[in-house]
Amino acid sequence: MSAFSLDRQYQRTGTRFKLYVQSPASKCFPEPQTVWVSSRAGTLAPGPSDKRMHVVAARDKKHYEDEDKPPYKGPASPGVRTNRLGHFDHLTPTDPGFAAAHMFGSVRRVLDVWETYFGGPLPWHFQWSFKTLEMIPWVDWDNAHFGWGFMEFGHGGKAGKLDDRAYCLNFDVLAHECGHALVYATVGIPEPEKLTTEYRGFHESASDIVALLSALHFDSLIDYVLEKSEGDLYAANELNRIGETSETEQIRIASNTMTMDDVIDTSMPPQDATGKQVHALGQPLTGALFDILIELYQKRLVARGLVSQEYASMSREVETSGEPNNAAHRALMASYRRHPEKFTDSLREARDMLGRRLARCWHQIDPQNLTYAKVARMLLLADHQISGNTHQKVITDCLRWRRIFVG
Ligand SMILES: [Zn+2]
Repeated sequence: MSAFSLDRQYQRTGTRFKLYVQSPASKCFPEPQTVWVSSRAGTLAPGPSDKRMHVVAARDKKHYEDEDKPPYKGPASPGVRTNRLGHFDHLTPTDPGFAAAHMFGSVRRVLDVWETYFGGPLPWHFQWSFKTLEMIPWVDWDNAHFGWGFMEFGHGGKAGKLDDRAYCLNFDVLAHECGHALVYATVGIPEPEKLTTEYRGFHESASDIVALLSALHFDSLIDYVLEKSEGDLYAANELNRIGETSETEQIRIASNTMTMDDVIDTSMPPQDATGKQVHALGQPLTGALFDILIELYQKRLVARGLVSQEYASMSREVETSGEPNNAAHRALMASYRRHPEKFTDSLREARDMLGRRLARCWHQIDPQNLTYAKVARMLLLADHQISGNTHQKVITDCLRWRRIFVG
C-alpha cells in the first residue's frame, strides 16, 4: 500500500507550473504553488499547447451558445511561452499569460491524477470530432462550461475584469469541469431514451469527487485539512468547522449530510429536473464517497497503530448519532500531535484507494439506464476485485446511511 506523489514522480522529467490550490479569492492559499506535470520539459508549445489541448487567450469573445463550435477564429493574445528550461513557473499572477498557463497546468494535473488511477491515457470523448481541446481562459460571463471540443471559463467577479474571481484561476472549478469530461470518456454517454435522472446526478457527484481527490494531491491542502481538524476528520463538529473556516469548497460540498430522502424523486423524467435539483441529487452520493474516504483513512490509522480499533468503531457512532465522543477525539488528537506525518501518509493512501476503486467502478458501469443502486453495486465489485471482503461492509454502511441501496 503506498500513495503516489506526482511532484516526486515528474520532478526530473516533467514541466513546472504555478497553480493555486483554491480560488485566490478564498484567502486560505494566497500564493500559487509549484507543481510538476507529466509533459516532458521543453515539449510544450506556445499557448500552452500539446497534441491534445491548446489554450486560446481570446479577446472580446462572447461565450459559445448551443450551436457554436470551435475553433475560435477571432482576435486573441499571443500564446504564452515557456522559459528557456521548458517550464511555465516563471509566470506570476500579474503576468498577462498566467491565466492561460494556470488553465493548462491545472487540466494536465487532473489528467495526470486520473490517468494514474485508470492506469493509462484517457482520450477526450469528442476525439472523433476534434483532435484537440480548445481552452478559453476568460470570457466576460458568470459561468464556465465544458462543451463538445472546448472548455470556456468566465468569472464570479466584476463584469469586464479578469480578477481573483476568474474561474480559470480556481482549481476546484477547472477540476470539476474536467471531471465531466472524464465521466463521458470512461462511463460513456447513454442513448437519449436510456438517460436517467440518476445519470445526471451521478455526473455531478463524480465531477465533485474528481475535484476533491485531485485537490488532495496538493500536499499543502492535506496538511491544512489535518491541522484544522487535528487529524479527526470524522467527528461531525470538526468537519463542519473545516467547512466553515477553510472556504474549501469541495470539502464543504463533500462533507454534506444529505440522504436520498432530501432530494427529488429519481423517477422524475431527466429532462424535467432543473440544474439545481440535479446538483442536489449528486450530494448524497458525494457524501457517501466522502464518508468512505474518511473510513479508509481511519483504517490506515488503525493499521499503523495510531489509533485503536475501538476508536474507529466509536467514530462511526458519532456519525450515526451526531454525538461527538470526546474521549475518542482527544486520543486521536494526541496521536496526531505525536505523528502528524503518519496521518498525512494515511490520508494520501486513503485518497488513492478511493481513486483506484472509482476508476474501476466507472470503467465497468453501463451508462444506459444508470441508477445509484447500480453504481453502488459496481463500486462494491470494484472494491472486491482490489481487496476482497476487507472494506465491503464499510462501503455498504456508508451508502446505506445515505439511503443508497445496492441494486
Ligand atoms: Zn457540473
